[in-house]
Amino acid sequence: MAAGIGSIRLTDKPLIVCDVDDVVLQFATPFAAFLESCGHRLIPRSFKLTGNIVSGHDETVLEASAVQSLIDDFFTAQESWQTPFAEAVEALHTLAGTADLVFLTAMPPRHTDARRRLLDELTLSYPLIAADEAKGPLVAALHAGRPLPVAFVDDMAHNLHSVGEHVPDCLLIYMPPPVEIHTFAPPPQAHVHKAVDWVEAKSMIATHFSI
Ligand SMILES: [Mg+2]
Repeated sequence: MAAGIGSIRLTDKPLIVCDVDDVVLQFATPFAAFLESCGHRLIPRSFKLTGNIVSGHDETVLEASAVQSLIDDFFTAQESWQTPFAEAVEALHTLAGTADLVFLTAMPPRHTDARRRLLDELTLSYPLIAADEAKGPLVAALHAGRPLPVAFVDDMAHNLHSVGEHVPDCLLIYMPPPVEIHTFAPPPQAHVHKAVDWVEAKSMIATHFSI
């Protein structure tokens, strides 16, 4: 089980579990800018990074291992690149007034300290779990079947489906970022609700929690 989950103390309020990359913090846009700073270019032709990152000189496609190290370098330098989406900080502050909020970020755990500093800098000092395993079992372990409403926000269909399978009464909110590469992403199933931005997501969560 992901490090840190056992140390999170929930109260008797509803629970919101929220993804970070491309939901709270921008990822695709600053990552494309980071690639350019390294002499590469992202050409969105499908919903994946490997195969779509090319050399700025001759458009040679970068190997998977080179893409992995660029992602790693980006997460190491995230404090210099990643910024929040409009309304995200304000909406999360409002929601956290009446709910427990936990960030669940699909990032290698070695980057937890940098992410923690960045979220704290943005006044988002809520508990953080960094894991690269399936999200459904983690949310189920965190919630532990308490008789309280739960909501989960993510930009990836497979994460929403995983949480839906393990926490069947969870409100599932799909919030795709407004970036070209995400237009190639597989859409979620019908039981997942789509929000266009944080204002809409906040209202959907408040309705589900009856607050
Ligand atoms: Mg994400």
